[in-house]
Amino acid sequence: MIITHPFRSGPDGRDLVHADEDHLREECGIFGIHGHQEAARHVALGLHALQHRGQEACGIVSYDGDQFHPHRAVGLVGDAFADERLMAQMAGKMGIGHVRYATTGGAGLRNIQPLYADFAFGGLAIAHNGNLTNALTLRSQLVQRGCIFQSTSDSEVIVHLIAISLYTDVVDKLIDALRQVHGAYSIVALTRDKLIGVRDPWGVRPLVIGKLDGAMMLASETCALDIIGAEFVRDVEPGEIVVIEESGLRSIKPFPKTASRFCIFEHIYFARPDSVLENVSVYEARKRIGRELAQESMVEADVVVPVPDSGVPAALGFSEQSGIPFDYGIIRNHYVGRTFIEPTDQIRHLGVKLKHNANVPMIKGRRVVLVDDSIVRGTTSTKIVNMVREAGAAEVHMRIASPPTTHPCFYGVDTPSREKLLAARMDIEEMARFINADSLAFISMDGLYRAMGEEGRNPVQPQYCDACFTGDYALPLTDGQVDGSDAKFRLRSDFA
Ligand code: SF4
Repeated sequence: MIITHPFRSGPDGRDLVHADEDHLREECGIFGIHGHQEAARHVALGLHALQHRGQEACGIVSYDGDQFHPHRAVGLVGDAFADERLMAQMAGKMGIGHVRYATTGGAGLRNIQPLYADFAFGGLAIAHNGNLTNALTLRSQLVQRGCIFQSTSDSEVIVHLIAISLYTDVVDKLIDALRQVHGAYSIVALTRDKLIGVRDPWGVRPLVIGKLDGAMMLASETCALDIIGAEFVRDVEPGEIVVIEESGLRSIKPFPKTASRFCIFEHIYFARPDSVLENVSVYEARKRIGRELAQESMVEADVVVPVPDSGVPAALGFSEQSGIPFDYGIIRNHYVGRTFIEPTDQIRHLGVKLKHNANVPMIKGRRVVLVDDSIVRGTTSTKIVNMVREAGAAEVHMRIASPPTTHPCFYGVDTPSREKLLAARMDIEEMARFINADSLAFISMDGLYRAMGEEGRNPVQPQYCDACFTGDYALPLTDGQVDGSDAKFRLRSDFA
């Protein structure tokens, strides 16, 4: 993961507006392949399928049996790896790649992954999805020992811990390093003869194994296997290290076993709906959430309208359960979603219409149930409700496919500080007034867990990480991140 700026600013210091600024953001996606002649091209395709996990920068490192070939760039995978000459240079049968969501500005270039370092045992490239919660503590200790950091990424801490490890074998060095870190990590790493995949003991972030024509691969989500026609083998287990080499795949479980806490928000919003994670179809889970939501917060209405695209499966489930017809009452423009723009008064006035527009015939005169995945700051929800009202809706009832987001995430998702989260400041009635809805309801925590196939949330041993809804941070927050503060790990030098 990369350390990100909470308030995106342009080079002149003015705030920038992101067209999708009122959603939490997954910060990274990773992919690796071993044993394929076209390794780098397959990594590029895998990253393209994972583009929703990070759009600001991407990178690939391949190894051809003699040399490592790195290429990193700001921008989308399709642009960064479109040059055929570049792809021809990225030779080799092994490669790893990374997409990231990160800050604007040139200072962030040095943070683009995969990170690469030369060691006595040879080169090592590493790509990380997640966030280390003791990176700041470890970093200051490492700096005192003389380590010189090249980036402001928490992931570089792992590289330095590997460098100073006294073990001789690279896998032992990696285990030694990971035993010292806290927090969430799914990692792919590349050596001269190995592709290595790791998930932290809680398994907060996903990582799956696939195979294709004798080659093996690792990816954040199964949709990245689908794009290259690979077969899904299994999830990397929480706390598992898989080492893929010429002789095949070997599994190591070097960490004390702990109860897993997969990020439940992956199922609500982050993951692509065509992915299957932890044996759960993301699309089906979202539809089940919609059904639970309808059971819990039914309302008399004429049409169920999703806030596209993320609200679509839950809205379908709500419609099926309630019997209220589903319709696309809001149309999304797919070509502005990732654009940063200067907030002139005129642009501010355009507001959310850059991305969403009301489909008036589906809305006018109707009582509308709007279904969205979450409310973060409430700014987008307010604009969307007002847009639907201006389109002539008789009533607007907002239904949210997650519990109220009351706490920041410290495990690899960019969230505003607690005081900026609407649900941390207001109760549901106040929020309904704030977003100008006739009614507002969120799925209950137990309803969410039922949609995941559980009987409910186990309060003693919750089956998922749900800290952004509960404040129950299972993984230690060693760097002093505290409930309600903006103490999220950020190194300000990145923005100097
Ligand atoms: S705090 Fe929320 S977003 Fe972060 S890992 Fe946990 S469930 Fe996922």
